[in-house]
Amino acid sequence: MTGFAHIAENLHEIRARIAAAQAEAGAAPRVELIAVSKTHPAEAVQAALQAGQRVFGENRVQEAAAKFPALRGAYPDLKLHLIGPLQTNKVRQAVETCDAIQTVDRDRLAEALATELAKQGRRPDLFIQVNTGEEPQKAGIPPAEADGFIRRCREELRLPIVGLMCIPPAEEHPAPHFALLREIARRHDLAQLSMGMSGDYETAIRFGATHVRIGTAIFGRRERPAAG
Ligand SMILES: *Cc1c(COP(=O)(O)O)cnc(C)c1O
Repeated sequence: MTGFAHIAENLHEIRARIAAAQAEAGAAPRVELIAVSKTHPAEAVQAALQAGQRVFGENRVQEAAAKFPALRGAYPDLKLHLIGPLQTNKVRQAVETCDAIQTVDRDRLAEALATELAKQGRRPDLFIQVNTGEEPQKAGIPPAEADGFIRRCREELRLPIVGLMCIPPAEEHPAPHFALLREIARRHDLAQLSMGMSGDYETAIRFGATHVRIGTAIFGRRERPAAG
């Protein structure tokens, strides 16, 4: 396990900072720390597990399916969130592999998920990704279409939508994006907000994040860029 000692230390520090941000915000909901392990080897995940971390995020279904089933054997309470774009041809594997899918963002995907959940009899927590910055290259439903899409997912497709997720534009201040996501969630009485990454999770908590997705600050820099 040499080379992974920093992971326990990083987790310890981040948990303390999350608790402090939460206390400062007076935020009632518990903040779930999602350790984003994309591109990092199973040994790194194992180091985090040994440090008490149980919730992980991956952005590719294939990488998740390669890394996690073996770890679940040893840690049955492990939870895995898919946080990267999901293609409809990977829906079956995503539903088999993940406990939560945070990137529901279009009709075809929502319909494929409804079919697959019925087929597998599984109810993973689903988040709708909102493209708050309206960036053409980024996944997520545009804010103007979010209300209709959320209603369709819940009322017509009966999907287990628990909340919303966003990735603010890298070059902008994230606060207005977090505020927008919170406002849309409030309109629909959705309790969960997945927002905040290594650089801005404390801000996200001030805006009511219930899930923060942190990779670099736990595992260190990624050597190859992750898709999505
Ligand atoms: C990679 C990734 C993260 C983690 O980003 P860091 O800056 O490394 O903390 C969070 N959310 C999503 C959707 C990601 O793809």
